[in-house]
Amino acid sequence: DAPVLSVHDLRVWYGTERGPVRAVDGVSFDLRPGETLGLVGESGCGKSTLGRGVLGLLPPGAKADGEIEFEGRDLLTCGRRELERLRGPELGMIFQEPLTRLNPLMRVSEHFEETLRTHEPGLGKEEIRRRSIETLRGMGIPPSRYRAYPHEFSGGMRQRIMIALALVLRPRFVVADEPTTALDVLVEAQIIGILADLRRNFDTALLLITHNLGIVAEACDRVAVMYAGHIAEEGDAREVFARPRHPYTRELLRSTISLQTTGLHYIPGAPPDLVEPPGGCTFHPRCPDAMAACPRQDPVEVRTPEGTRVACWLHGPAELLTEEGTAPLV
Ligand code: SF4
Ligand code: MG
Repeated sequence: DAPVLSVHDLRVWYGTERGPVRAVDGVSFDLRPGETLGLVGESGCGKSTLGRGVLGLLPPGAKADGEIEFEGRDLLTCGRRELERLRGPELGMIFQEPLTRLNPLMRVSEHFEETLRTHEPGLGKEEIRRRSIETLRGMGIPPSRYRAYPHEFSGGMRQRIMIALALVLRPRFVVADEPTTALDVLVEAQIIGILADLRRNFDTALLLITHNLGIVAEACDRVAVMYAGHIAEEGDAREVFARPRHPYTRELLRSTISLQTTGLHYIPGAPPDLVEPPGGCTFHPRCPDAMAACPRQDPVEVRTPEGTRVACWLHGPAELLTEEGTAPLV
């Protein structure tokens, strides 16, 4: 299968008085139809910026370059009009803070009718109703509530209605950025369920941005671990969880296990300042395995025999390191 989305050397930066903040710094990945990629990493690593960037939803002042190929066009250069046309029917988004709100004067049913009529004018009334009710049901909203008004629902239910509105159009590619709060286990399960349906039935590809490695293990084919604007490691989710290659992935997995057992989420040190990131490997100040070469040379991405991409000198290419460079960093 050809990728539905192909991101190549994407960079996103924001101007500040101190200089540019490099939130995304040379990221590449492909996503095939029906595939789910989990994007994980600590707060501030650039994962939300990446998620918004691939949909052309960067805030004013942000600049981007690279390529975001989506079904034959480059989303970075295709222009605002085209992007707006694609958002909804082709490109879906689920953010914790919804981009649009429900209109308090309109019934839920009217929101769905309006959305589907705008984007799929050929659909009949019965089909609109059937599809909407089915999507809402997937999010735990019973058919009996189809004609209710937004104020008749709880905040959590309204959020689920918004998600159903995004998914009823059956987009080809969806970005879900922390779609649930840590406490909302039920919504989480529903979102995973409905996304699995979409993927099974319509080959929807998904980029799932989350702190929750458990969700990634459960719901994603692949995982990308992001650190300081870079992808440290990317590969088959089971493989990466079973055999993390990058020291940061290893630390992240370890801290998640301790989060479950002791309530602590802790990797020594702090993520770097993205205005003046450390030289060489940006993880070197926190890395237990750092070598003399690490602060001096940017890691070169290599692919393991299992297909994992990893950017860390521990994995080579050895010919680019001197013997002195492999001495432990003290
Ligand atoms: Fe650690 Fe060096 Fe690998 Fe960076 S390149 S993760 S500092 S061993
Ligand atoms: Mg975020």
